[in-house]
Amino acid sequence: MLCLSCYAHAWGFFGHQKINYHAVFLLPPDMLVFFKPNIDFLSAHAVDPDKRRYLLEQEGPRHYIDLDHYGPAPYSSLPRDWKSALAACSEDSLLRYGIGPWWIQVMLERLTLAFRAKDPERILQYAAELGHYVADIHVPLHACSNHNGQLTGQHGIHGFWESRVPELLAEKEWDFLIGQASYCKDPLAMVWNRVIQSAAGADTVLQTEKKLRAQFSSDQVYAYEERKGQLVRQFSSAYTLAYDQLLAGMVERRMRASIEGVASLWLTAWVNAGQPPLVSLSRTSFTPQAVLSLQQLEEAYKNNRIKGREHD
Ligand SMILES: [Zn+2]
Repeated sequence: MLCLSCYAHAWGFFGHQKINYHAVFLLPPDMLVFFKPNIDFLSAHAVDPDKRRYLLEQEGPRHYIDLDHYGPAPYSSLPRDWKSALAACSEDSLLRYGIGPWWIQVMLERLTLAFRAKDPERILQYAAELGHYVADIHVPLHACSNHNGQLTGQHGIHGFWESRVPELLAEKEWDFLIGQASYCKDPLAMVWNRVIQSAAGADTVLQTEKKLRAQFSSDQVYAYEERKGQLVRQFSSAYTLAYDQLLAGMVERRMRASIEGVASLWLTAWVNAGQPPLVSLSRTSFTPQAVLSLQQLEEAYKNNRIKGREHD
């Protein structure tokens, strides 16, 4: 299946980097003074959590939650806070079906503490990574057990929706002027709202592709096309455009919601930390320890196989 496996990451590397990048521009001036000069770091490291899936077994479940496992929407059998969820279901079971919404609370807390400590290195790392997890839960197939169409003969749909479509359209066609980040009083409720919206879209993502597939011959679905200077077999441009059209802007809407969600939680962490002044912070140098752990991540990503659930 050649390069369909290039699309094994949520929102793809391209999408995650774009989301963190655009989120910066939604921040108030007091945050912008520090985030804007570091926008390259925030974009580049938006994908660290996906790289960590090559290093750590525990990483995988932080990126998704199979909400359909908990019955029909609004999944009232599943408590929203972690402690009650643990009491209702075993930890093993929660981990098996994904812990995305709860992991965001952990990262939000880490970022808040980093702001409070005025630790530039940690602020940037945690902000970049929080951005990743928030973006992930905006993806319908990250909230659904049929996450790669494996139950319906639609293998590859995961990367098709979240990588192929944005790579073809985001830069040229989509609008990322979004307005301003807003403070979030109840981040847990906000995250649950977003992930339930995602789950509600999963059927559309899957059924629309099924419908479209019936209208295209198999040699029209895939094509050898150029991607980053290489000729690869992937979903053809014509098929991708037709899919996006049938989805009526859904991928763009979810990407915009991701950007707004990421910026709003960055802002929330900063406000909850007491709005420390960031103007004097600079990322002069990372500690040797931080550099080492970033290197390890890179190496695991290059040399290992992914641990846990795969989408290719
Ligand atoms: Zn991810």
